[in-house]
Amino acid sequence: MAPPDSPSGSSNSPALAEVKFESLGLSKPMLKILARRGYSSPTPIQNELIPHALLGRDVIGQAKTGSGKTAAFAIPLLEMLEQSSNAPQAIILAPTRELVQQIVTEIEKLIQGLDVKVRGLYGGEPIVRQLRSLERGVDIVVGTPGRVMDLLERRALVLNEVYHVVLDEADRMLDIGFRDDIERILRSVPDPHQTLLLSATLSDDIRFLARKYMHDSIELNLSRDEMSVESIKQYYITVDHDKKLDLLQHLLQKDQPRQCIVFTRTKRGVEKLGQRLGRKFGGVGLIHGDLAQPARNRVMAGFRQGQVKILVATDVVGRGIDVEGISHVFNYDIPEDPENYVHRIGRTGRMGRDGVAYLFVCPDEGDPLTNIEMLTGKPIPSFKLDGFVAHTRRAPDQREYKEVYRIGF
Ligand code: ADP
Ligand code: MG
Repeated sequence: MAPPDSPSGSSNSPALAEVKFESLGLSKPMLKILARRGYSSPTPIQNELIPHALLGRDVIGQAKTGSGKTAAFAIPLLEMLEQSSNAPQAIILAPTRELVQQIVTEIEKLIQGLDVKVRGLYGGEPIVRQLRSLERGVDIVVGTPGRVMDLLERRALVLNEVYHVVLDEADRMLDIGFRDDIERILRSVPDPHQTLLLSATLSDDIRFLARKYMHDSIELNLSRDEMSVESIKQYYITVDHDKKLDLLQHLLQKDQPRQCIVFTRTKRGVEKLGQRLGRKFGGVGLIHGDLAQPARNRVMAGFRQGQVKILVATDVVGRGIDVEGISHVFNYDIPEDPENYVHRIGRTGRMGRDGVAYLFVCPDEGDPLTNIEMLTGKPIPSFKLDGFVAHTRRAPDQREYKEVYRIGF
């Protein structure tokens, strides 16, 4: 089956239902904490990373945004902490303040009732407060490289007792140019120590860093499907509800897709749209779960052979489709579940070919759009239509993208 359909890389929800935290070698108290936290089964990256980390190995973990990387490193780290000695035993580096805060919050939820102290170290908060916390003693520090360097230079932060080092969002940290700081921080951690590196992508830069500072590390790659999305050009278009059909026809005429799938939310939507398109275009097929299997097979055979050029489909039947000629995916109705977006657009751009995915967004659908962007980890650009007016009211084009970046990365 094609990568976008594989459970291992496609989900921020517990995709492997049969796997339980119990099988990962965790302690009873930790299992209780996880149950209380509402995590019933590990995400794929957690499932893979936790057992290796518990053995003390250096691990490079690649998994996309929203796949549970924080708990993947936090759970084994908490399991391995020694009796509190008031000197940091673990240091976690992350690229932004917001991310540091997010990690601190997640760890706080995982240490409720335990005698563990965690502290975020980042710019924007008066440094004296952080100095005082460090004086009082902490077990885990989470910081941005800049502020951590600052505190190291003031000798307020001492890393002599550190055994666990985590580089979260390593690709992003190198983008931002923290490389020198990171290397200096890594050099001030005594050997032996364990390093966990988490990243959405693996570049030569990251591998260089890993080779230099990690020992005999193993590499886990959980985001194959994200890679396949790279070759797809994605756009969203703000459109009034009653202009959607016109917009679709406009784009079909303009782009002349080799073959395309148009996704709607409901079976009824498929029927209605299929009929309407059939009046204007040749080679329209439709498929949804209520059609009898022979009819579905016929449509699919026609699609594979190329007689059907425009396939109108619901998510249920659209998901598994792997047809080489698909050059365009139209998200006619925005998917309710953001994960379906990734599955839908993964129908095109197969095996590195080019593909275009349009997302129709009605003026009241800003939230689902943001959810999709948070899941895929990057903003989708809006498409500039020339000569076609898709909406008349003021659209949410001016949305503030900062939030997406801040939370997503
Ligand atoms: P990443 O760092 O990969 O972007 P996060 O660690 O921020 O992902 O996790 C994304 C979301 O998934 C968070 O809301 C987190 O609480 C949730 N989550 C993590 N692990 C699990 C799990 N095992 N079960 C359910 N939800 C989880
Ligand atoms: Mg993360």
